[in-house]
Amino acid sequence: MAKYGMLIDYDYCTGCHSCEVACQQEHNFPVGLNGIKVTEYEYQLANGKIKIDFMPFLTDLCDLCMNRQAEGERPSCVKHCQSACMKFGLTSDLADEAAAQPRAVLHTHIPK
Ligand code: SF4
Ligand code: SF4
Repeated sequence: MAKYGMLIDYDYCTGCHSCEVACQQEHNFPVGLNGIKVTEYEYQLANGKIKIDFMPFLTDLCDLCMNRQAEGERPSCVKHCQSACMKFGLTSDLADEAAAQPRAVLHTHIPK
């Protein structure tokens, strides 16, 4: 089991893409490569209204900002998330928190 993970309460994700920019700047990734991607899911509610969910997910390039962790810093994406809907921590702790949230995803991740 992955020791660390990322809990994202996507109900509050605005799709601002700040996490992607923060990750690219932190790791100096070239255009098109990123440790996190924000996707959009558009659908229609029963009342006819259109709703868009933004779903951030970690890619294989994510190293959970090991260098920052070593200095006691939060991952760059977490620090710069505009809606503070991302949380990094022990997978076991985050799993407990996820159980209490109606619309969240828990990414378990072992950096390669
Ligand atoms: S934890 Fe670090 S490497 Fe992973 S997506 Fe966030 S900024 Fe990128
Ligand atoms: S920075 Fe936060 S609010 Fe903005 S897209 Fe990323 S997860 Fe969503």
